[in-house]
Amino acid sequence: MTVSLDYDEYDLGSMTWEDAETAIEEADFAVLPLGSVEQHSLHLPVTVDTLRAENLSRELVEAADDRDLSMVRLPTLPYGYSEHHMNYPGTVTLMADTYQSVLEEIGESLAAHGADRLAFVNCHGGNRSPMKLAADRIQRDHGVEVYPIHWTDYARDQLEAEFGDEWGHAGDHETSVVELFHPDLVREEKKEPQTRKAEFEARQFAYFDDLTEQGGWGDPTNSDPEFVERVVADATERILDALESDVDAVE
Ligand SMILES: [Zn+2]
Repeated sequence: MTVSLDYDEYDLGSMTWEDAETAIEEADFAVLPLGSVEQHSLHLPVTVDTLRAENLSRELVEAADDRDLSMVRLPTLPYGYSEHHMNYPGTVTLMADTYQSVLEEIGESLAAHGADRLAFVNCHGGNRSPMKLAADRIQRDHGVEVYPIHWTDYARDQLEAEFGDEWGHAGDHETSVVELFHPDLVREEKKEPQTRKAEFEARQFAYFDDLTEQGGWGDPTNSDPEFVERVVADATERILDALESDVDAVE
């Protein structure tokens, strides 16, 4: 099984400081993909969200080019805020305030090099709250416009219509995405309907092993990578529509 770091010309990871100087100053957006290292049930690796961030941000940056929106992509931040998954081995979490600080300091660095706009492409729900606080802070303190994009917000209606309410963590959707981009990382023989242990109406925090037996939601055996490939294309365009519309709104 091979997962390669695939740097293209829009990747900061491929640039010298001279290349980066021009790229960051001239780009419409700097893009920071956000993942996590946390359990994803019995059939998927702990890096699912990081792999999604890596692949979905590539789709976004390449589609942006067709609209003459230029983007420079930063290396994916692999670790996130995953404290609720810590009872499963292999989960590695930053604390929420650490995570928020990491994002703020990345934003501060980009501001120092002349970035005008920063888009987070987030693929882990747990990152949402600290990401949003960091976005506010970066914009207020460093004058960079920040766009905290939570990827599945742009695909939720289609995923729910196809897979039902429990399409999320390690379920039908994420299994499909990994099958689309990295099929050899899926343990086919371990795919099974996930067993829900509890559901809360108003309570917010629960460790994930109190909510599910295997570690996921839904039914990974319903995965459909071809359907999800179309969802990825649609969500990519929806995100670009939103970014373009926000840029136009202040011009
Ligand atoms: Zn995930």
